Amino acid sequence: MNPEEFRAAAHQLVDWIADYRTRVPELPVQARVKPGEVAAQLPAAPPAAPEGFDAVLGDLDRVVVPGITQVQHPRYFGWFPSNATLSSVLGDIAASGLGALGITWQSAPALTEVEEVVVEWLRELTGLPASWRGSIQDTASSACHLALLAARERTTDYSGTRGGLQAEQAPLTVYTTEHAHSSISKAVALAGFGMDNLRLVETDPWTRAMSPKALAEAVAADVAAGKRPTAVMAGLGTTGTTAMDPLAEITRIAAEHRMWVHVDAAMAGSALLLPEMRWMIDGVEGVDSLSWNPHKWMGTVIDCALLYVADPDHLVRVMSSNPSYLRSTVDGEVTQYKDWGIPLGRRFRALKLWFQLRLDGVEAIQDRLRRDLDNARWLAEQVEAAPGWRLLAPVALQTVCMRYEPAGITDGDALDAHTLAWVDEVNASGATLITPSLLDGRWSVRVSIGAERTERSDVAAVWEVLRTAAERR
Ligand SMILES: *Cc1c(COP(=O)(O)O)cnc(C)c1O
Repeated sequence: MNPEEFRAAAHQLVDWIADYRTRVPELPVQARVKPGEVAAQLPAAPPAAPEGFDAVLGDLDRVVVPGITQVQHPRYFGWFPSNATLSSVLGDIAASGLGALGITWQSAPALTEVEEVVVEWLRELTGLPASWRGSIQDTASSACHLALLAARERTTDYSGTRGGLQAEQAPLTVYTTEHAHSSISKAVALAGFGMDNLRLVETDPWTRAMSPKALAEAVAADVAAGKRPTAVMAGLGTTGTTAMDPLAEITRIAAEHRMWVHVDAAMAGSALLLPEMRWMIDGVEGVDSLSWNPHKWMGTVIDCALLYVADPDHLVRVMSSNPSYLRSTVDGEVTQYKDWGIPLGRRFRALKLWFQLRLDGVEAIQDRLRRDLDNARWLAEQVEAAPGWRLLAPVALQTVCMRYEPAGITDGDALDAHTLAWVDEVNASGATLITPSLLDGRWSVRVSIGAERTERSDVAAVWEVLRTAAERR
């Protein structure tokens, strides 16, 4: 494809994207395809000769759109907001168009330096310590994995340069809670700690926040047993109920044992753009690393996760590799992001953040987040006031956890069956998407507010849909 052919097709594609975004509210929220249905519509082999762009675009409508769950829908209340603001989409298109190769500073100086600047803008905007430095990673899962690798190497004084964990005498232990994201246990396994050395610290039964007292006891028990406490993986805004682990107390305990504290704020990090939400990071000065996803609530098109570290030199020492073909004369003066994570080559992800911040402006993003927090508080009030409905967790952010508990159902299993049945019915209708989730061993419903186009009227309409479905059964 030459630039002139590209120009013609790209104009068509941009029109198609704009039309698609306009008609998203008319689409069923949850994809209705059966497993294998999408693949069955595609030919077994690619064409030998070129096809026209119209044919490709036609298949986007025919095959792809029905094959995705519409997370840009104003009535999407599933897992977590996964916004893809059109301003950031433009940045993503620009990044692809440039086709820059980020393997060293030299391979694309602007790729590195725009990233440094936008990551610093966001550090300042979210109230993180001025001495911290950050980088863009693909996902919070990767960021959490990197944090555990850095923790492991700090506690073992860079065992990776010697016999690795296989040569360590005492097991290294990691602390989190049962409400932590599944990426944490995955990283514990992959970073070589082993699941036997992961401790799920007790939490408060209502807030689901980590109990500092229980953390101190678990650490003391491990020390007494000859283990080496290495890291606390704290959560701000856990996936289930947006629980907030108390950083000030956790960092105090961690400091006594020189443990690494990583904060997983994947969803909640966006809220730090609001000065009134900074209470969440009280104690952050004692934290070693924190990650959050602009690609969730803030709305930078996926994938875009930020990882901030208090001691970048340590991270670089753990992650760096320096083969001769990547060395250059400016090495000491510039940031080499290849030494801040696992991949060598990086995309120009900073452009989508840069475009979004410039084209939307910080205030509009803040207004939207405040709107969503307000909508969540409003919904929580409705739930608390409605007979038979129960609010199951504090509403610290934009997620409301609830259950309908009709007087006639007293058996727990029957209540579970009832909950799953009405949630299934609502989701199958296409009117909205909410996520059923297990909380304290029983099925509950999470309504995660924060899609870019969700207004109070959408929340109110969906609350009616939920009430009707649950109360009629
Ligand atoms: C979404 C989420 C993750 C995982 O994020 P990815 O970027 O998809 O890896 C981790 N932790 C929390 C609390 C999340 O909400």
